Amino acid sequence: MAVPSGVKYAIIGAGIHGLSTAYHLALKLKEAGKGSGKDILVIDKTSIAAGASGIACGVVRNNYYQPAMRELMAHSVSVWESDPKAYSYHAVGYMQISPEVMHQQVGTIYEQQKSIGYSSTFVEGEKDSMTYMKGLFDDWQAKGITSVLHEKKGGYANNTASIYGLASKAEAEGVRIMTGVTVNGFEFGSNSQAVTALMTSKGRIACDYVVVGIGPWINQVWNMLDLPRTVSIKGRDGKMHDGVRMWKYWCLEEGTLGVDPNMHKTNDGRMPPVIHVDTDAPLYSDVDGRLITDKLWGLYYKPDFNFGGVQGGASPYKVEGEPDKVAIDPYGPESPDFIVGDEFIETWCSMLAHCQKRFEGKISIYKKDEKSGGLGCFTPDNFPVFDVFRDNVFVIADSNHGYKMIGVGKLAAQEIVGEKSRLLEPFRFSRYAEGKLHPVSNSPFPWS
Ligand SMILES: Cc1cc2nc3c(=O)[nH]c(=O)nc-3n(C[C@H](O)[C@H](O)[C@H](O)COP(=O)(O)OP(=O)(O)OC[C@H]3O[C@@H](n4cnc5c(N)ncnc54)[C@H](O)[C@@H]3O)c2cc1C
Repeated sequence: MAVPSGVKYAIIGAGIHGLSTAYHLALKLKEAGKGSGKDILVIDKTSIAAGASGIACGVVRNNYYQPAMRELMAHSVSVWESDPKAYSYHAVGYMQISPEVMHQQVGTIYEQQKSIGYSSTFVEGEKDSMTYMKGLFDDWQAKGITSVLHEKKGGYANNTASIYGLASKAEAEGVRIMTGVTVNGFEFGSNSQAVTALMTSKGRIACDYVVVGIGPWINQVWNMLDLPRTVSIKGRDGKMHDGVRMWKYWCLEEGTLGVDPNMHKTNDGRMPPVIHVDTDAPLYSDVDGRLITDKLWGLYYKPDFNFGGVQGGASPYKVEGEPDKVAIDPYGPESPDFIVGDEFIETWCSMLAHCQKRFEGKISIYKKDEKSGGLGCFTPDNFPVFDVFRDNVFVIADSNHGYKMIGVGKLAAQEIVGEKSRLLEPFRFSRYAEGKLHPVSNSPFPWS
């Protein structure tokens, strides 16, 4: 199919952010009497859910040490809750189970959740934490735990199903979605910075406004937009740090233990919350008993019928080298480079066994045939950038926090029709030069 010669709003990327923006922008335009979904075109070089959104574990949580992230997540949870069926959302809750080194910080998360009305329980002390966990799972045995934050909201959603759910809602509002169309460059105005057209594999598309929601490919499109490859950051020490590379890659490691998902229910037979454990207790191999690590480690997991087992992951690793040279395509399970191997499988299965007896000796039924893992593209401080560049390009770069952030597209849509969002304000690009940085937690994950 030929691409249209021109559109009002061109959205690049049919993942969670591109489609959420498309759907909510269609509603906003209609509400404001400024147009409708017919003014919006979403294009994707592959297909709907071809990027990170289609392979995400799908965890939706509020647990963030940064107040601005927590408020944003609370907003996104309300969007998930607005249509759980279409979004394939399971509101089972979420648990952050932590060692002493994280106790105080997680305590502040609990206090601030109370102040924003986000329902959670906080258990403190080794003995009470063990009692609380055994009340949920009688085989609980994780060591080194001195606090448990149990978020009663949140949970997880089924990755591809939720993205298709969003696509249907957008199309029902008149939005067009074209797949198999790659953006290879931009045309800029002669008297302004603004983008006047997308140069695509199927021809030129003139446009008034562009939204970029392209997940791990952001470094490529950032370069096409001729945006700064490096930034100057005013550090916590008050000094400027120049020449910091804008984008870097981490590889996320996830997998599925091929058990019946029903085997991981709570003592009273319910589907459990998503479990996230961080601990500094030594981790021993569930295969041969040798020490795997005595440093802080973490894992997350949930029973998931979509993945056909207990699915989850562990800390990601940094991809070294020049970001422009990292092979993003083929992406996800098709990548020859960025899929999990035997080391992850043994480590993650041993972590599961460390936490619950029911997972001991189960490594042989790990789903090795299903390739998993994928790249994420991160900002200098590992927090999102949501901002307008070149006068008319709204960039949604979530620094790999973003499947859960279904609400960001709604807030972006509000801004596009002229209503500034307080929730997006802490994520502007200018925060680097101004030194308005988010606080950093003690978690072993770059996204907490
Ligand atoms: C293994 C893994 C697990 C994760 N688990 C979670 C989780 O549990 N919870 C959570 O909140 N987040 C999770 N994330 C992060 C989350 O998936 C991403 O932050 C989020 O999905 C990014 O969404 P997006 O819409 O920006 O991009 P994507 O979903 O990646 O979509 C981008 C789209 O842009 C298209 N595209 C790229 N370049 C072009 C171009 N030049 N022209 C046209 N189209 C283009 C791609 O084909 C793709 O479909 C995970 C990430 C990974 C990799």
